[in-house]
Amino acid sequence: MILALASVLKFGRCAHGATGAVTLRLTLGTAHNPPMAKMALDRVLIAGGGIGGMAAALACARQGMAVQLLERSAQFSEVGAGIQMGPNVTRILQGWGLGDALEQVASFPSGLLARDAQSGQVMGRLRLADRAQSRYGAPYATIHRADLHGLLLAAARLAGAQTHVGQTLQAWHESADDLEVQTQQGPTWRANVLVGADGVWSAVRQQLLADGAPRFTGHLAYRAMLPQADLPLALRSNEVTVWMGPRLHVVHYPVRAGQWLNLVAIVQSAKPDQAQDWDLAANAKNLMQAMGGVGQDLQARLASVPDWRLWALHDRASMASAGQMAQGRVALLGDAAHPMRPYLAQGAGMAIEDAQVLAQSLATGQGSVAQRLLRYAELRWARNAQVQNRAVRNGQIFHARGALAWGRNLSMRLMGERLMDLPWLYGQGPAA
Ligand SMILES: Cc1cc2nc3c(=O)[nH]c(=O)nc-3n(C[C@H](O)[C@H](O)[C@H](O)COP(=O)(O)OP(=O)(O)OC[C@H]3O[C@@H](n4cnc5c(N)ncnc54)[C@H](O)[C@@H]3O)c2cc1C
Repeated sequence: MILALASVLKFGRCAHGATGAVTLRLTLGTAHNPPMAKMALDRVLIAGGGIGGMAAALACARQGMAVQLLERSAQFSEVGAGIQMGPNVTRILQGWGLGDALEQVASFPSGLLARDAQSGQVMGRLRLADRAQSRYGAPYATIHRADLHGLLLAAARLAGAQTHVGQTLQAWHESADDLEVQTQQGPTWRANVLVGADGVWSAVRQQLLADGAPRFTGHLAYRAMLPQADLPLALRSNEVTVWMGPRLHVVHYPVRAGQWLNLVAIVQSAKPDQAQDWDLAANAKNLMQAMGGVGQDLQARLASVPDWRLWALHDRASMASAGQMAQGRVALLGDAAHPMRPYLAQGAGMAIEDAQVLAQSLATGQGSVAQRLLRYAELRWARNAQVQNRAVRNGQIFHARGALAWGRNLSMRLMGERLMDLPWLYGQGPAA
């Protein structure tokens, strides 16, 4: 049975870039499954309130679990940047009852365009608008992070999840019966399940696996967001465009129902001093220097940006077994489990897939908490590893030079859509 809850929400909490508040109507369906069998499974504690943690809170709350989410920041926020979501991800959001709300705030690009950063030539085009829907049963969407996060937060709360800011997980102790979780701020929390959704620098991962810090990839991401109305007509766009050049690439796409354009320029460079910061001030001169000899078309686009922000990109090698993703009553999710390079645009997507499988495994799986979490990890680790590894390879192809770049351009021209479409990614993943 679908129970429709309507609520009018206002949000617009981006830290930089777009500031317009978005008003939308959220229609939230409850889970099709009846509440899970009552056993010692229903107290789920989630560390981290980013896109992954919030998606997990929503998915578990929809299954009738009592969810507490702890976020270390003083308030929930997402930086002013965009997220691409393939049909493998929008399908899940629709299944959670967020389809109508998504239509109000997201953009639905007409296609994905690959262009040569130097010559400006179009190398290939993947139709997205109708094709994603007809081939994969769900749209390809692009969205402001704050809008996606706001949707998940509002829906998680409506579904009954309790969210707490200013709570930094420090450590936990697991006993036969449950878990005791300590935060830096003092209170002790008890739960039956702990989900580490605390991002690339995850404290949960460090206690679970003690496998050290993530690695700096040698890549910096400069990002910006511009109102399309302020751009000359020639620079406005309703497509995802990827410009590929030697040791660099640039991606831009619309967000906020096409009103804003999100831009990300990736260059290979030395590590900045505050490499853990997601939101460093950036120097446009450094970016233009790193861009070297890109062609006029791309230069004009980059020159239209008054202000850049900077991320130093980190990742980890992929996991080699399910046992790394879940042990006992503790499981990892999202970037805490599989931080990846953004060259397949699926980091948040995989976190949302994780959330769906986690909730399903806990609610409908068999056996103890540990067995259900291990089942979740078994269903997730290999797909996450595949996406992580393909993202590394995509980066090498995007940044290719010489003969490799020549071969890339030729293959794209010859094979176009057949090369750019990814049925193994968009057509698979958990059912909604
Ligand atoms: C340039 C760039 C472009 C990208 N583009 C895309 C894209 O197009 N599509 C896509 O799917 N993905 C994309 N990604 C990847 C995506 O941003 C991440 O995979 C996703 O945001 C990860 O979400 P998360 O919730 O796992 O982690 P995070 O977003 O890092 O959230 C972790 C949360 O945990 C909190 N936290 C940390 N430690 C603690 C603690 N000890 N206790 C409590 N709370 C804690 C943090 O404050 C934070 O709120 C991109 C990434 C980059 C860098």
